[in-house]
Amino acid sequence: MITASPAARITPDAPAADWRQLWREAVTDAAELLQLVGLQHLAGELPPADAGFQLRVPRGFVARMRHGDPRDPLLLQVLPQLAELDEVPGFVADAVGDMAAREARGVLHKYHGRALLIASGSCAVNCRYCFRRHFPYGEEMAASGQWKQALEHLRQDPSISELILSGGDPLSLATSKLEELGRGLADLPQVIRLRIHSRLPVVLPERIDDAFIGWLGALPLQKVVVLHANHANELDASVDAACARLRAAGATVLNQSVLLRGVNDDADALAELSERLFAAGVLPYYLHQLDRVQGAAHFEVDDRRALALVEALRARLPGYLVPRLVREVGGDASKRPL
Ligand SMILES: *Cc1c(COP(=O)(O)O)cnc(C)c1O
Ligand code: SF4
Repeated sequence: MITASPAARITPDAPAADWRQLWREAVTDAAELLQLVGLQHLAGELPPADAGFQLRVPRGFVARMRHGDPRDPLLLQVLPQLAELDEVPGFVADAVGDMAAREARGVLHKYHGRALLIASGSCAVNCRYCFRRHFPYGEEMAASGQWKQALEHLRQDPSISELILSGGDPLSLATSKLEELGRGLADLPQVIRLRIHSRLPVVLPERIDDAFIGWLGALPLQKVVVLHANHANELDASVDAACARLRAAGATVLNQSVLLRGVNDDADALAELSERLFAAGVLPYYLHQLDRVQGAAHFEVDDRRALALVEALRARLPGYLVPRLVREVGGDASKRPL
């Protein structure tokens, strides 16, 4: 437990701890992670090193894992597995063809009216199924050039009404960087909406601090925050508080998930996730079929089973709690519904 000092309690809901400190304290050693969840006897089954994609998981997220359970749905998302080393046909490095959609430094423009800025190359958690695990996003960040080239490019395209911040994780940027972007956006009258895709409100909810909420709340734009949670166990009271703060700042809060074998590929788990999200004031948006990235084949759920799962959800939940099942296909004009 973190004990808040009186000074940290200026507003009642403000997180007590500094998120950058918590970021630095993340677990990066697989053997330590196993130790923390009481599974040290499994250390011999770890792959050698992390094959270019380091383990990283904030301690608050580790605390939500079930102790002593090697099938824990949170643990499975972050623990390196020997299966990642298998070469599986069809699973490639650039699974969604992002390089082809790159328009300027850190700008991806694939869909009408929406431009995506790769704002940051880093994440607070490294998810083993991530399509970015082999992608040189480190060099692609729009923020590194203080947004100039990216914003200049957008200025020339009046069709773009929505700017999407993605990454990596855009909330890994200091709030001062986001403020810089916000000032740049004032020169783009065609942009009426800012969307932020982030896993931080879930894995490091302390990020949603007063300074960030102050910035977000004051932005003269429509605001959407798309979280990324895959299992109900990822949500606890600290995530509820972060979501409440986002909504109080005027953001519509949605969630996208990835369908992952062994993590959330059963109707009960998906229904519970939708219910739990709604309890936090969050609507399910997308359920993604896995991008076929090298090293993630062991997470794949085939399309027939995926469709059956969504059918099962539709039979038991209100329509607004059933996420859209989609796959990302390079060259398409939108995410492709299954
Ligand atoms: C997914 C994605 C979007 C957003 O698509 P929506 O269907 O509006 O959520 C925009 N740009 C890129 C490059 C994307 O990959
Ligand atoms: S981009 Fe999202 S899915 Fe990928 S490692 Fe970062 S937080 Fe995880």
